[in-house]
Amino acid sequence: MAHNKDTITFEEVIELVKNYIHDTESLEHIERAYQLALSKHKGQYRKSGEAYIIHPLNVVKILTEIHADKETLEAGLLHDVLEDCDCTYEEMEEIVGPVVTKLVDGVTKISKLHFSTENEYLVEYYKKIIVGMSEDVRVIIVKLADRLHNMRTLWALPHEKQVKKANESLEILAPLAHHLGIHKLKSELEDLALRYLKPEVFYDIAERLNKTKLERDRCVALMMDEVKEILTEHNIAFEMKGRSKSIYSIYNKLNKGKKFNEIYDLLAMRILVDTTQECYLVLGLIHAKYRPMPRRFKDYIAMPKPNMYQSLHTTVFGIDGYLFEIQIRTPEMDVIAENGVASHWSYKEHKDGAASLQTATEQKLQFFKSIIDLSNDKLSSEDFVNSVRDEVLNNNIYCFTPKGDVIELPLGATPIDFAYKIHTQVGETMVGALVNNSVAPLDYELKDNDIVKILTNKSSTPSKEWVNIVKSTAVKNKIRSFFAKSERELYIERGKDALERALRKRKLPIHNFFNSENLKKICEKLKLESLDEIYLEIGNGKNAPNSVINIIEKEEEEPVMKKVLPPKESDADIIVSGLDMVKVNIANCCNPVYGDDIIGYITKGNGISIHRCTCHNLDMLDNRMVEVSWNSNSNNTKYLSNFLIHSITMDNYIADIVQKACMVGVSIDGIKNMYQTDGTCYDVSCYVTSKKQLEKFFAELIKEPYIKEIERLMR
Ligand code: MN
Repeated sequence: MAHNKDTITFEEVIELVKNYIHDTESLEHIERAYQLALSKHKGQYRKSGEAYIIHPLNVVKILTEIHADKETLEAGLLHDVLEDCDCTYEEMEEIVGPVVTKLVDGVTKISKLHFSTENEYLVEYYKKIIVGMSEDVRVIIVKLADRLHNMRTLWALPHEKQVKKANESLEILAPLAHHLGIHKLKSELEDLALRYLKPEVFYDIAERLNKTKLERDRCVALMMDEVKEILTEHNIAFEMKGRSKSIYSIYNKLNKGKKFNEIYDLLAMRILVDTTQECYLVLGLIHAKYRPMPRRFKDYIAMPKPNMYQSLHTTVFGIDGYLFEIQIRTPEMDVIAENGVASHWSYKEHKDGAASLQTATEQKLQFFKSIIDLSNDKLSSEDFVNSVRDEVLNNNIYCFTPKGDVIELPLGATPIDFAYKIHTQVGETMVGALVNNSVAPLDYELKDNDIVKILTNKSSTPSKEWVNIVKSTAVKNKIRSFFAKSERELYIERGKDALERALRKRKLPIHNFFNSENLKKICEKLKLESLDEIYLEIGNGKNAPNSVINIIEKEEEEPVMKKVLPPKESDADIIVSGLDMVKVNIANCCNPVYGDDIIGYITKGNGISIHRCTCHNLDMLDNRMVEVSWNSNSNNTKYLSNFLIHSITMDNYIADIVQKACMVGVSIDGIKNMYQTDGTCYDVSCYVTSKKQLEKFFAELIKEPYIKEIERLMR
């Protein structure tokens, strides 16, 4: 095997840096870090025979590909200096400053572990990686680049070490890169790992790809020419790329029982257009010309993946009947797809790139929160690492809330895991779950793409049995800690929570509500002794939060039968207690949306359900009606609406409908098409902010000559 020696000079690297870092001070800092690394690594050589400095230079080259900031680049240059050279923390800090030194120290801590037994080593190794990341995600990004270059030069190591590094890369580093959305690093790490773990498979796939390359390239080029013509005809500015699958992803599909020639997205292309709206437009144009393969359309624009990935995917029968996988996205989405969280470096509007990177990691990436949850749980190092590796980083499934938010769960997760993942309190008060609109048992094993709606009741509590049902370790611990608390403590906690929510709702300051004077008044009135007792009586339902508040703050009288509904954001997701302890549910027979004429119906034990006034289910109902109205300063709550579109043709217009929805800002939840004798009927469910928006959508649709009629559904 011939090996590329990866020789590279600092001058070459700095040219790459200058592609996106221009100010002289930063460039000088990078040069200063280089000089320090150069002098400290002097006389050291890698196993591959090169001068050691070639390694950090290559690491920085990788980092420039994801536009890493200057501190990260400096840390990349110096990442092995504290570990392998005669250089102290203080000395480095003196020369390059505290920020870079701290990053280098973080990377060093990860690499510095030498334990006797393999297992102990791994446990500590993984734990350090995870801790390092929670302090500053840049530490992990340097580590990923370091590992990638080491994998590229893995041939120089003995077989045993090759296997060990390759396994580590596949078990933890590639999944980390995946969850951070850094696709570039992830797929190369996987391919390299496969090459050392299963060389026969790797070279077999590589060879087959090679053999078919000419034919595939020809097809893609022809297809691109055709698509180009369509887009140019419609005056859409675009950029188009052919795309090749990674060897590892093909290996995965072969592993799932697919045959090589059945892997239909081997022919793949990507189209970049300026706006989201154009993405849908292009999709419509492509579907108009090429027949789409059923169930292969994915809208990751409306529903981004948990690692922030956004794109439209479709597979169509293209040139010569070959199947093509086509991705359509904007240039911004493309950067996120390649660089994930690291794309925060590329945006000029983020003044403090490092802070915005860390914030995005903490807020936008669910796996990160899961890791933090686990680290708060006082698990043994081994349990912690096993949970992170097996439940958080690997074997994930993705389910949806009814509103379309993606929830990331471990394989084998149940509706209880789902509920706790939304919020601990949702988990603790859950009474049941609807999976894809049917009632599911609590131990139901969720599958990819299930839509889960959690039903709660605020007076309900978890069952001890749940510990044996749930999958994720963090949830098990939450349930255990619930039972470790006494009932009294629990009610106090809930009472405090309910009271604070009520205060917030009435815009009263929470912190000084219980000053000694108020506290005395309330205790006297309710004949109680302490603040805890007040909370307890609210928590166990003896006193309503508002009646406690009313002792201090008189409220204007409100007519009892006229409730103003606050359509809280969470209502679309989960049934929660509404205003004044009244639970409010949107009825799913007629699905009223904001602006519809509505009426409330008092159910037995499930609060008030809100119907459209015209709902035919109301005929049977008696005097349990209450007057209700929409909260006029409602925010951006989205309401589910169902309707049928009757068309006069058998042609498929799904893409067109989706595109129109996008134009008016409606998010499509699902479309089913049913062929009838006189045309196709589309059963559409979507989320709208108001009746007005829904009507605007209808107006756009009815303009189309292929549409005969639209009717809102009532079940
Ligand atoms: Mn290194």
